[in-house]
Amino acid sequence: MDFTLNSDQVAIRETVKAMMTDFPDDYWTQKDRDKEFPWEFYRAFADAGFLGIIMPEKYGGSGLSLTDACVVLSAITESGAGLSGCTAVHVSIFGLTPIIKFGSEQMKEKYLPQIISGDLHACFGVTEPDAGTDTTRIRTSALKDGNDYIVNGQKVWTSKALESEKCLLLTRTTPIEDCKKKTDGMTLLFADIQTPEVSIKPIPKMGREAVASCQVFYDGLRVKESDRVGNEGEGFRYLLDGLNAERILIAWEAVGLGRAALRRATQYAKERIVFGRKIGQNQGVQFPIAEAHAKLEAAQLVAEKAAWQYDNELPCGDLANISKLLATEACFEATDVAVQTHGGFGYAAEYHVERYFREARVWRIAPISQNFVLSYIAEKILDLPRSY
Ligand SMILES: Cc1cc2nc3c(=O)[nH]c(=O)nc-3n(C[C@H](O)[C@H](O)[C@H](O)COP(=O)(O)OP(=O)(O)OC[C@H]3O[C@@H](n4cnc5c(N)ncnc54)[C@H](O)[C@@H]3O)c2cc1C
Repeated sequence: MDFTLNSDQVAIRETVKAMMTDFPDDYWTQKDRDKEFPWEFYRAFADAGFLGIIMPEKYGGSGLSLTDACVVLSAITESGAGLSGCTAVHVSIFGLTPIIKFGSEQMKEKYLPQIISGDLHACFGVTEPDAGTDTTRIRTSALKDGNDYIVNGQKVWTSKALESEKCLLLTRTTPIEDCKKKTDGMTLLFADIQTPEVSIKPIPKMGREAVASCQVFYDGLRVKESDRVGNEGEGFRYLLDGLNAERILIAWEAVGLGRAALRRATQYAKERIVFGRKIGQNQGVQFPIAEAHAKLEAAQLVAEKAAWQYDNELPCGDLANISKLLATEACFEATDVAVQTHGGFGYAAEYHVERYFREARVWRIAPISQNFVLSYIAEKILDLPRSY
């Protein structure tokens, strides 16, 4: 077994690390406070060619592996950019995989080069107010009208909707009652986000304020048939196809953010003097940091193996899920420890760890909550009865 990054991956990581020095913690805290999309970072990242890292070379991408993309995204979160950094670029890097795998040639030629150059922004609209984890209950409909679909409905939590011209949108083209399986009858459209048919309302939320997540209302939006991804009725299957890769990417990102938190915790523990001694001399301060470090390293190993399995086209669902669970829990613990180590200052925006903590929390819920990862492990790995 070889656990070292290859020389190209080391070079990629160093390039991203160097780029991120232009976007220090204060940049992200300001973006978070002002609820401002990080355009400068996004532009620099696109100009460096990273948006196309796993896109096929034919459309201007680099055609690299999932592990390479993981190296990039974890270097972003580890810099202190956290979720604000990686969510700003996530959909462009990875979210359009259904188009790459199942979209028509015409669609790929039209859109992928613009996504790679950073000129076209896209978001991802699946969740609805009454359909979160149970995606099959979505009600946003797309009805055929000649060569178009007419879309009506509402999505919720669509991240980056405000900045996007396009949304990879999951719709119902056949009512659930008329489907043999409830996962049938859903269709993915690459819809225009345009007024007046689409209206967007940001949701006030706990963290990652640099990238708004929004309610999005669709009222009679026309989408051309040529903007349909793959076959009608198979949208759910196309989504499932990308889930493992998404979970693996998140695992790497979470380890990156956890490491950023522990970097700040250890630094502070070495400097802060209380009762005439550095707080880091106390085992009560050291041990939680050490324990969080151990858990992050363990999670990283699982995430590396999961990415390796994916890149080698081996079954990777088990480790994709396990790595998502372990890494996001380890990240949450690390950010909590970082806040605790800073005492009262951990609660102050100036030390950035409260921002990390608020951001880390979301990964326990989205894109899939820990309960459903545990259900996967129970059912698919341990052969226990399905619980839902
Ligand atoms: C910041 C943020 C950004 C997001 N960005 C996007 C985006 O860009 N696009 C998009 O489509 N979606 C997005 N989401 C939505 C996200 O994917 C959902 O929140 C997530 O899938 C969970 O769905 P839900 O919120 O409806 O929870 P629900 O499905 O309502 O579940 C609520 C709680 O109940 C638990 N639960 C429910 N049923 C069971 C059961 N049978 N057994 C055990 N536990 C159960 C769940 O684990 C969860 O903790 C985002 C969410 C957030 C918070």
